[in-house]
Amino acid sequence: MSIGAAVAHGRLPGRVWMYSNYHCNLACTYCLTESAPAVARRELPPTAMIEIGRQARDLGFTDLGVTGGETFLMPAMPELLAELATILPVVALTNGTLFNHRLLARVEPLAGLPVALQISLDHPDPETNDEMRAPRNFRKVATAVPELVRRGVTVRIATTVESLDKTTLERLCTLHRGWGVPDCDHVIRPIVRRGRAATYGLGVRAGQPELPAELTITAEGAFWSPFAPTVRDGKPDTDLLITRTTRPLSVPAHALLRLIEARPPGEDSTLNIR
Ligand code: SF4
Repeated sequence: MSIGAAVAHGRLPGRVWMYSNYHCNLACTYCLTESAPAVARRELPPTAMIEIGRQARDLGFTDLGVTGGETFLMPAMPELLAELATILPVVALTNGTLFNHRLLARVEPLAGLPVALQISLDHPDPETNDEMRAPRNFRKVATAVPELVRRGVTVRIATTVESLDKTTLERLCTLHRGWGVPDCDHVIRPIVRRGRAATYGLGVRAGQPELPAELTITAEGAFWSPFAPTVRDGKPDTDLLITRTTRPLSVPAHALLRLIEARPPGEDSTLNIR
């Protein structure tokens, strides 16, 4: 079966994820990649990401995702996202803390393009939100999101939690609705017990059976899911590595499809991660 046919028939998810980098200005308690300012950057250069995007489109994939690390620490990220959006629709994950006036001006051209910025916000109380992320994280996000929305940039809110009661969820939703982000652009996902979350004993265990298969490319290889290329004790996890070969993209794409086809019936992923 071709990759295009597998995507069209729902056998293979249509999105290809790329890890642009692993470093971050924050060091969240539940971070899958043990990201922090001084960690190994493991960058995928913009030229490589554009090449992967084009190959993904030509193979029949339908969407791109960019994640990290903090993606906007990559100097060319606004222009890179604009370029990727000419290839396929793209979602980029960001902690939302770097959007000063200069960066806001550089992302403004993303308005009207098929680009969504997915910004993390875990709790409607600033203190609780910032406990696992960083001081003033809430305030920075609460400032950035309305500014982005005002400029016409599509924003999604991602809430990563161990549990969420109804009242807290309602307060979170009231917040993002007030900022102009509709309910359909609010995703809630569990903490996954990999990386720093595993060190602290947080979250749900997730291996290949639980994680949706989505082709994920990093500087060091191709992985089963965007939750797979994690880092523990400073070392990259390789339990969910598919192949070290990332280009041509047809190599990891077919390798992932073979793994999916080899799963026994009823073994589709059970964890609603995205
Ligand atoms: S969870 Fe995201 S924002 Fe937090 S340290 Fe990791 S990459 Fe950075």
